[in-house]
Amino acid sequence: MIFKRLVVGPFASNCYIIGSESNKEGVIIDPGAEAEEILKNIKDLGLKTKFIVLTHGHIDHIGALKEVKDATGAEAAIHTDDAKSLNDHSLGRVFGLSYPPPPAPDRLLKDGDSIDFGNLHLLVLHTPGHSPGGICLLGEGVVFSGDTLFNYGIGRTDLPGGSYSQLMNSIHTKLMILPDNTIVYPGHGPDTTIGTERRGNPFLRGF
Ligand SMILES: [Zn+2]
Ligand SMILES: [Zn+2]
Repeated sequence: MIFKRLVVGPFASNCYIIGSESNKEGVIIDPGAEAEEILKNIKDLGLKTKFIVLTHGHIDHIGALKEVKDATGAEAAIHTDDAKSLNDHSLGRVFGLSYPPPPAPDRLLKDGDSIDFGNLHLLVLHTPGHSPGGICLLGEGVVFSGDTLFNYGIGRTDLPGGSYSQLMNSIHTKLMILPDNTIVYPGHGPDTTIGTERRGNPFLRGF
């Protein structure tokens, strides 16, 4: 698997570029900002971008969507329950950020969908709680966890549509059932593993 992590924008969001060695088809996860840097990396890796997948609709994960989509022609995919937040600029105003209006999504995702590129597959896990349409993406031995689970942290639940009980339920029923050696690539901060979080994440104690 071709893999590259970029840290972009004022919220230090992780944008992941992954690609198939077999035919160089690629996926961009969460183009939060810095479109030029993302596009440069796509070019350097020699990838044809098939999908741009958004773990959720918050500005720090979608800020460069329009520019990256315009430049690559890739399909934008987001969970149905976060699709409307693509056009909700209220959070951007709260954070004092502006960005090009994002395009309408090409593909609406639901739990259990598969994102296929080259010989790789990402399984969509619907993990509401941080936002209603938050998703994690499960690949072979890896999970991209968006703002649901972080290295020794969990997503905030005080933004519109957030729910602490939903978030905890999502983490326990969709993520903590994965093998301990599953590598977790979160939406912010360093990677971790399911086992490390199971043992040491202070927000998951007592379960
Ligand atoms: Zn978020
Ligand atoms: Zn975020």
